[in-house]
Amino acid sequence: MNIAFIGLGNMGAPMAANLAKAGHTVTGFDVAGTTAEGVTMADTAAKAVKDAAVVITMLPNGQILRDVAADIIPHMAKGAVLLDCSTVDVDSARAVAELCTQSGLLALDAPVSGGIGGAAGGTLTFMVGGSDDAFAIGKPLFDIMGQKAVHCGASGNGQAAKICNNMILGVTMIATCEAFSLADKLGLSREAMFDVVSTSSGYSWSMNAYCPAPGVGPQSPADNDYKPGFAADLMLKDLRLSQQAAEAADADTPMGEAACELYRQFVEAEDGKGRDFSAMLPRLAARKRGE
Ligand code: NAD
Repeated sequence: MNIAFIGLGNMGAPMAANLAKAGHTVTGFDVAGTTAEGVTMADTAAKAVKDAAVVITMLPNGQILRDVAADIIPHMAKGAVLLDCSTVDVDSARAVAELCTQSGLLALDAPVSGGIGGAAGGTLTFMVGGSDDAFAIGKPLFDIMGQKAVHCGASGNGQAAKICNNMILGVTMIATCEAFSLADKLGLSREAMFDVVSTSSGYSWSMNAYCPAPGVGPQSPADNDYKPGFAADLMLKDLRLSQQAAEAADADTPMGEAACELYRQFVEAEDGKGRDFSAMLPRLAARKRGE
């Protein structure tokens, strides 16, 4: 298949390389001039998409996606699929899908979880919004770049699933970290905390698979001086998207709102930028009540 790939950054480059390795013809474009193994680079986005049956985008945010979509849609072949894998706001995903429909194109929003390791190893999970026809075309590509693709419904629903999942993740990580911090101050060992909670009703992915306490539980970024992993800045981005969506949908999400504010403070006013999102544990453990 002829595939165009726009946005060859930390995630996009290994995803594009995996498609090329599987035998697809991949033409790439990135404003920063980055490249990927096995991918032929074009000098403009318009040239990259011209003969593609599927155009994949992996970009920083919704505004850039809207700009890129407006640029490339007039140059895409009729019936082609615009498959966006970036994490963006639900409104941008739906607006881009609408533009595609008006131009006789198909659209999928397919944000991922699994991070840079998942992109390199071809083990991402895709959360997909769009029509059944578009999903059927994208499915073989999801199978190369990832290990699972869940069709969540109409356009925008992939982004909705992603931000709801990550809102749970942000909230449970903070809850896990504050429980460790309280346990420290009550004289409970972290090992005992882990052994109890990971097998009791407080268990979660944050505790069991990604334990924020170093030396406890499975290997995690806590054991590597909180190098990401999943950076606190990216968690802040996703929590902001969740709150933007909650505002637009008039949904009451007090815990998501609190988590968003805590990560904002951590990243923008403290030393959280560039650290793993589980570094919320040393942050909380070093503070006193009400600080
Ligand atoms: P990145 O900044 O490394 O890559 C984005 C790329 O897009 C850059 O190379 C940039 O030059 C390019 N770009 C920007 N504007 C462009 C334009 N107008 N035309 C062409 N290219 C353009 O970011 P990333 O880590 O690869 O993340 C990409 C997306 O995936 C984001 O939406 C992010 O939220 C999401 N995501 C990232 C991770 C992760 O762990 N990094 C995990 C899940 C989801």
